[in-house]
Amino acid sequence: MNAFAYRDGVLQAELVSLIDIAARFGTPCWVYSRAALETALDEFQQELRGFDALVCYAVKANSNLAVLDVFARRGAGFDIVSGGELQRVLAAGANPRQIVFSGVGKTAAEMELALRIGILCFNVESAAELERLDRIAGQLGKIAPISLRVNPDVDAGTHPYISTGLKENKFGVAYDEALALYRQAASLANLQVTGIDCHIGSQLLDPAPFSEALDKVLLLVDQLAADGIALRHIDLGGGLGIRYRDEEVPTVKAYLRPMLDKLKERQLQVLLEPGRRLVGNAGLLLTRVEYLKPGEVRNFAIVDAAMNDLARPALYGSWHDIVAVVPRQTTSSTWEIVGPVCESGDFLGRGRELALAAGDLLAILSAGAYSMAMSSNYNSRPRAPEVMVDGGAVHLVRRRETVAELYALEQRLP
Ligand SMILES: *Cc1c(COP(=O)(O)O)cnc(C)c1O
Repeated sequence: MNAFAYRDGVLQAELVSLIDIAARFGTPCWVYSRAALETALDEFQQELRGFDALVCYAVKANSNLAVLDVFARRGAGFDIVSGGELQRVLAAGANPRQIVFSGVGKTAAEMELALRIGILCFNVESAAELERLDRIAGQLGKIAPISLRVNPDVDAGTHPYISTGLKENKFGVAYDEALALYRQAASLANLQVTGIDCHIGSQLLDPAPFSEALDKVLLLVDQLAADGIALRHIDLGGGLGIRYRDEEVPTVKAYLRPMLDKLKERQLQVLLEPGRRLVGNAGLLLTRVEYLKPGEVRNFAIVDAAMNDLARPALYGSWHDIVAVVPRQTTSSTWEIVGPVCESGDFLGRGRELALAAGDLLAILSAGAYSMAMSSNYNSRPRAPEVMVDGGAVHLVRRRETVAELYALEQRLP
């Protein structure tokens, strides 16, 4: 579904004009569509019908409470990577028994919090982490449910910064060491081995590596069963890509079917941890052109959003489509869409064909995932507000920060 479409020459979010949103909340402003979020989750849940399955939304992609709330209401679980995310999902109404905890650096305090709350599973990434978790569970008189994140050593063919399933990455335990580590886990008194997980990378556009990883993981599941370690669940991670530009994106069905076919005959609960695919195309960043600065070599359109808001173009060279909220019929030129931050890397889009005038509103699309979540206050820029559109209604789900809030925790010398 496309939640963002033109009506009478004006870009809308569901039934609401983005001109109205800009007038009411100012720019820059993040705009999410509730219907788009729900549709994205439904695609997974429908495909999983008939399976004992749980979609655990990867919170780090977009952790706004309203986004989490939309998913919690529809029965999703959550994949978290910090104590902060744990407290967030609880504040959003998550069921503790539907939370899995990933990440290579869980602290003792984070483990303790998750043990007290009683989460579904710790996705453990190293031998040292196993030992720490066993010790802390023992101190609390709890049994920690665990899964080992196995690194299947498949090349997901994505950007090196977001590829996680290769031997050289910091994530997971090496495939060849997994059996020994499972035996160790099974021998520790305060752990209960319940599952196995993998996550091979992000923005993947080819379903084949997922299937390849699953084959390797299933081989381990069988070896473990032969060893007397019976697993209850298999967690296939996230990573399914979205369309940013003109990528051929697999349907959720094309991604899941081959894997589900392999899991049909098994008595394993299936967990998935999609992040980007659930939120990426459900959000945009609304911004206004402050100045046009045509030049001999390049034309710059300076907008009021910047790399501190949307870091992906500066960080990964990512492409986001940029469109005018009210397209002009005049001749277009090629523009560098840049922000006011004092870095040459502060661009949101390069070489864009647009007909622009100062004051125009632009929408930077596919900005629901790893966008606001990665924003900063660089250059003492308050974070932009987030609004969620629901049909004809607009809810402010995070207000704009004030400058005073930016230095509220700081002090001058005595
Ligand atoms: C980031 C992450 C995800 C989500 O990845 P997407 O590409 O956004 O789907 C899932 N699981 C783990 C362990 C992650 O680190």
